[in-house]
Amino acid sequence: MASQEDVFKKLVAHCKEYGFVFPSSEIYDGLGAVYDYGQNGVELKNNIKKYWWDSMILLHENIVGIDAAIFMHPTTWKASGHVDAFNDPLIDNRDSKKRYRADVLIEEQLAKYDEKINKECDKAAKRFGESFDREMFCQTNARVQDYVQKRETLHSRFVAALEANNLEELKQIILDEEIVCPISGTRNWTDVRQFNLMFSTEMGSTSDGAMKVYLRPETAQGIFVNYLNVQKTGRMKIPFGIAQIGKAFRNEIVARQFIFRMREFEQMEMQFFVKPGTELQWFEHWKAFRLKWHKALGLGDHKYRYHDHDKLAHYANAATDIEFEMPFGFKEVEGIHSRTNFDLGSHEKYSGKNIKYFDPEINQSYTPFVIETSIGVDRMFLSIMSAAYCEETLEGGDSRVVLKFPAVLAPIKACVMPLVKKDGLPEKAREIMNLLKFDFKCSYDEKDSIGKRYRRQDAVGTPFCITVDHQTMEDGCVTIRHRDTMQQERVEIGKLHSIIDEQVNMKNLFKKIVE
Ligand code: ATP
Repeated sequence: MASQEDVFKKLVAHCKEYGFVFPSSEIYDGLGAVYDYGQNGVELKNNIKKYWWDSMILLHENIVGIDAAIFMHPTTWKASGHVDAFNDPLIDNRDSKKRYRADVLIEEQLAKYDEKINKECDKAAKRFGESFDREMFCQTNARVQDYVQKRETLHSRFVAALEANNLEELKQIILDEEIVCPISGTRNWTDVRQFNLMFSTEMGSTSDGAMKVYLRPETAQGIFVNYLNVQKTGRMKIPFGIAQIGKAFRNEIVARQFIFRMREFEQMEMQFFVKPGTELQWFEHWKAFRLKWHKALGLGDHKYRYHDHDKLAHYANAATDIEFEMPFGFKEVEGIHSRTNFDLGSHEKYSGKNIKYFDPEINQSYTPFVIETSIGVDRMFLSIMSAAYCEETLEGGDSRVVLKFPAVLAPIKACVMPLVKKDGLPEKAREIMNLLKFDFKCSYDEKDSIGKRYRRQDAVGTPFCITVDHQTMEDGCVTIRHRDTMQQERVEIGKLHSIIDEQVNMKNLFKKIVE
């Protein structure tokens, strides 16, 4: 069986070969951790964004959207804490000259202990069969106990070091745990240093005193500084939310995992404004809602888990990640944070403007508390890609690569194919395209054998192939072939629209979420 690393490499190659993701400015050998989306990638990305946007805006009367600028007044980032505290601890390996995030190296070490514990349990489960009691085994097996103990000790040391911002201790942990550089295999580490992740540039010409401005590292601040504009003009009453999709920029230290960690990426964020004291209730609500949104896609419930933060950000009083099982382990796709009244309070202080909400129900003004749901479009894209990618051996020894996307998100919904390029079949196929194209992204393919055309569509995840043959000209029926089962059925042309719609209409997902 191919290792997960091989699968990931193949996935990256597939993304390029089939027009999903290209390295940025590739003719100049690319730019570190910056990527472009190709013709199929952009469709998938747009579908993800639509799924998210509509699930916020259509399903909630009290959530509206905005589209704020990337540039903001520089004081915004002072107030938000990003100028002073948006740092990652970095460490270099002197032999490989590679740079790492010290916290990530330690987190990976923690994951290794988890793996060891799981391996022992899995081995024992096989040995004991049905009667296996995992909890009991973990409590009594000496080897497992040893791992648990080591993990716990490491975890508490790590959390304490993060909380105290103790960079020497982070380095000491790396040395004590004998963590080696994955490239050089050595423990020749530099000291740990803090590194601010914000990009900056200059606005205005230097002659009249240019101003240093930042490229936003999160979209959320555009929502905070506008919350009162939206509240007043939209006559919103608390609780209410503001949603936004847009680019964010971070000068990431380690950027080696394809589109998982980019320097320019896209976020889908929703800030939900609530009455102080109700925030933890709403935090639980959004945690559950967001997981339902993910699970409704049907990629497999076991691929998701919550991960509570070890160290809360400077603004949060509760925070959880939704992690997805990528080919390189469970990784954060979305963060749900209870941001308290930190941001609004701080903007009030720095701007000197009153941005309190007047609550007509209690006749009082207050600074609302905020629950944030923040998901990266690109990480969502990667999770869907990795769950969808399948290599299958077919009867007769043939094989295929198929992207089993949820049909609603597939870049192309149907490909219409005339069996041959003559006898009026292409014209008939075009007629069918014209019937479908107002509602579904369709493609047309008349080149090569039908088998080859099917493979091409499998490789980009098209759920339906529709073949027009000579019989069609007589009975008005076509062959529709289903991507995952490869089953074919004969249907009337008039029924195609409803067959496709049933599978690709987002309504079906939304119904699952609000159930
Ligand atoms: P990490 O710990 O992986 O750096 P984070 O906790 O800093 O992520 P948040 O600040 O919570 O991330 O950002 C919210 C979401 O934005 C993340 O869950 C992720 O999906 C996305 N995101 C953050 N940084 C990046 C990046 N460099 N590239 C792609 N997506 C990102």
